[in-house]
Amino acid sequence: MTSTGVTLPRRLSAPEPGWTVSADVVVVGSGIAGLTCALRLRERVDRVLLVTKTVLSAGSTQWAQGGIAAALDPEDTPQEHLDDTLVAGVGLCDVEAVRALVTEGRTGCASSWPSAPSSTGTPAGRSS
Ligand SMILES: Cc1cc2nc3c(=O)[nH]c(=O)nc-3n(C[C@H](O)[C@H](O)[C@H](O)COP(=O)(O)OP(=O)(O)OC[C@H]3O[C@@H](n4cnc5c(N)ncnc54)[C@H](O)[C@@H]3O)c2cc1C
Repeated sequence: MTSTGVTLPRRLSAPEPGWTVSADVVVVGSGIAGLTCALRLRERVDRVLLVTKTVLSAGSTQWAQGGIAAALDPEDTPQEHLDDTLVAGVGLCDVEAVRALVTEGRTGCASSWPSAPSSTGTPAGRSS
């Protein structure tokens, strides 16, 4: 029992694992976040284990078209872009991450367009 009076289970109710494997680091998820993390970690440690749900390509990353949010129209502003994104994100957005994207996206696009990929090797698209 914790100091708050809540009783925690001693073990999960999941069945015993069918297999085990050792790794220095386990990365969960094979989207761009997980794959980038795994690639970076591989530069530091020998054994990086990537686990994911169903198949490697499941998730949002395969659907992304390489668009980067940026206020390009003279009548659009990063603040409006920020507001719209936060409304669409219904409270799930990291406000500072969105702010960085909508304010720095334009510069980032300009420096990586037309052929240079981003630092992760991810190409940036011109339109979507
Ligand atoms: C149609 C569409 C178009 C988009 N277009 C763009 C775009 O143009 N530009 C842009 O910047 N962004 C775009 N996005 C958003 C972008 O795809 C996501 O922000 C990004 O791919 C998220 O990457 P991620 O690695 O965090 O998540 P994901 O790619 O979703 O990866 C999550 C991973 O976690 C795994 N996983 C989930 N649950 C579990 C579990 N319980 N156990 C183990 N593994 C689990 C999944 O299988 C998956 O491999 C788009 C998204 C969609 C859906």
